[in-house]
Amino acid sequence: MSTFQAPKGTYDLIPPSSATYLAVREAIAAPLRNSGYGYIETPGFENVELFARGVGESTDIVTKEMYAFETKGGDKLALRPEGTASTLRAALEANLHKGGNLPVKLWYSGSYYRYERPQKGRYRHFSQVGAEAIGVEDPALDAELIILANQSYRSLGLSDFRILLNSLGDQECRPVYRAALQDFLRGLELDEETRRRIEINPLRVLDDKRESVQEQLIGAPMLRDYLCEACKTYHEQVRELLTAAGVAFEDDPKLVRGLDYYTRTTFEFVHDGLGSQSAVGGGGRYDGLSEMIGGPALPSVGWALGVDRTVLALEAEGITLDLPAATSVYAVPLGEEARRVLFGKVTELRLAGVATDFAYGGKGLKNAMKSANRSGARLALVAGERDLAEGLVQLKDLQSGEQTAVALDAVVDEVRRALA
Ligand code: ATP
Ligand code: MG
Repeated sequence: MSTFQAPKGTYDLIPPSSATYLAVREAIAAPLRNSGYGYIETPGFENVELFARGVGESTDIVTKEMYAFETKGGDKLALRPEGTASTLRAALEANLHKGGNLPVKLWYSGSYYRYERPQKGRYRHFSQVGAEAIGVEDPALDAELIILANQSYRSLGLSDFRILLNSLGDQECRPVYRAALQDFLRGLELDEETRRRIEINPLRVLDDKRESVQEQLIGAPMLRDYLCEACKTYHEQVRELLTAAGVAFEDDPKLVRGLDYYTRTTFEFVHDGLGSQSAVGGGGRYDGLSEMIGGPALPSVGWALGVDRTVLALEAEGITLDLPAATSVYAVPLGEEARRVLFGKVTELRLAGVATDFAYGGKGLKNAMKSANRSGARLALVAGERDLAEGLVQLKDLQSGEQTAVALDAVVDEVRRALA
């Protein structure tokens, strides 16, 4: 071990388990790629003000969890705590929303940073794959995103998860609800911080995880009783589209996002094998966000799925992904001449698309064969001076132990045949 360790709240992805991590990212991205979403990559840090406005001045993410800093040049930046604000910023900056090409559909994958209390499933550096559909208000778009997230999880073999769904209303009906909720909350026994929250961000109080708060919330006014006709119709259409697609969901009237620019559809994917860090992904409509960051009105919807927690969900369900072995052929040279010749064959095989590795460092036969087995390769290519003198190499099937002599210039073909 070195003098250093990974910083608190972080962990390293190392082989072989890192392969699962990559496969999860890929599985989440695949349905998006297949549905008109283009890949976007934005910087790991942004102007801190973008997050203050785009995530919300009163959220835990901005007030407590953000890695904000000032550069030597005096710029006030923050490591990105989430992906939506950056994605929208980039789309606006590149004018993707102009030219009549709405919705702009984008997906991303990357690292996010939050200064949280580390626990299982909650880290200071974590990974998300996200999707945003910008500039269109259409219940089919909301449904599409939920269907695609569901498809991702299903493709991984996950089944012990639920989709929670709610509507947050819009600029017309939410203020009325907000006022009614504030009236109700002001009458409760709450601590100072929560009382402040009632005034700034009352919907977030519904999301309070504490038992003592939840008990008092029984009988609180529910947004669904305040939805205007347009919001009701919209929500009903989202629900119908999901049902028609065979995607099961649960109505959760307490599911909220506390900021004014979140509107209508909101949803969360929760996994029942994860204990308290049960949210594997979440999202919703954010019709007011573009204007909050200085853009035009662009009703949008999106989600972000947590890669770390999805990997934990796989573990919780005992799912091992069926990943192809990283190496198919492992070459073992015995002696200098064999080293030169086999190294050439390795390069040839790789060019032919066969995943191949080589026993580096002049290992003896026994150690080299151990490495070959450890690599997961199906075949070993072994050659000594005597084989080479005859223009041959030994092709060994590492499962059956069967060994055949193969002419040097037939190696690529024979390997292909053996792997087929
Ligand atoms: P939570 O309620 O668990 O704090 P959140 O509402 O902060 O989640 P979002 O901002 O909606 O989460 O992020 C989407 C997803 O990213 C989450 O569902 C989760 O899977 C993942 N995620 C969020 N924060 C973390 C973290 N600190 N460590 C690992 N994964 C995280
Ligand atoms: Mg959080």
